[in-house]
Amino acid sequence: MKKRPIVVGNWKMELSHKAELELIRALKNMLKGVPIKSEVVVCPSYPSLPAIAEALKKNSKIAVGAQNVFLEEKGAYTGQVSVLDIKPFVNWSLVGHSEVRAAAGVTDDIVVKTAAMLRGHNINPIVCIGESEEERRSEQTVTKIRTQVASLIEGLDRTSLVQTVIAYEPIWAIGSGQTPDPDDVAQIVLLIRRQLTDRYDQELAERVRIIYGGSVTPENAGHYVGGPNADGLLIGGASLHPQKFMEIIQAVDSAFGEA
Ligand code: PEP
Repeated sequence: MKKRPIVVGNWKMELSHKAELELIRALKNMLKGVPIKSEVVVCPSYPSLPAIAEALKKNSKIAVGAQNVFLEEKGAYTGQVSVLDIKPFVNWSLVGHSEVRAAAGVTDDIVVKTAAMLRGHNINPIVCIGESEEERRSEQTVTKIRTQVASLIEGLDRTSLVQTVIAYEPIWAIGSGQTPDPDDVAQIVLLIRRQLTDRYDQELAERVRIIYGGSVTPENAGHYVGGPNADGLLIGGASLHPQKFMEIIQAVDSAFGEA
């Protein structure tokens, strides 16, 4: 089975509800009649999920994801959002984005349990991993990635792993305008695939989609995807601009051949 590239837009907390609706309308219009090879996912803020899902009801080209979800389904967890709340509206959810890890003390253990919980609800996790600036400087990148991937491999069964997207996001590259050398990203992709092969087999390792995120623009998008590099991209800032997001999708599409 041929792997489909995936492009994910993380809108964070950047837009008003009205602006999110305008953005999805603009994106829908841009994609109308254009053959797209990539799977496209947008992750609006929680309060906009129902309206965005409704706006996309008849649009099979764009799927909806949540930006996060709490591990527990129900209980005395003030301010948290349960999978049961997002389930009617999403097919995807980010898990362990570095901004969530930093703000909410989310550990690798919580990340993998959350990913497994999502699979139990038939929602596909996009698990974010990556090293900090400090870890990069002290040459801990490989150790960090190996540890995070090991935890995923341990906590998810084969079927869940295949449905999981692994997003390699060097924390220092997020929103900073700094980007890694595409060859370094290809090395990390290879490292993750080797780890998956060692635990399972090459077939599984090839099926799991590994994507890159961090200061992606229409100009640099094509450098990080295709061949030995990533199977898609996770986009923050540029996903707020329909034209830029569209150009990134097209860059990914052309790296993977025609639609
Ligand atoms: C992100 O938040 O996941 C991200 C990659 O952001 P940006 O594209 O703005 O660096």
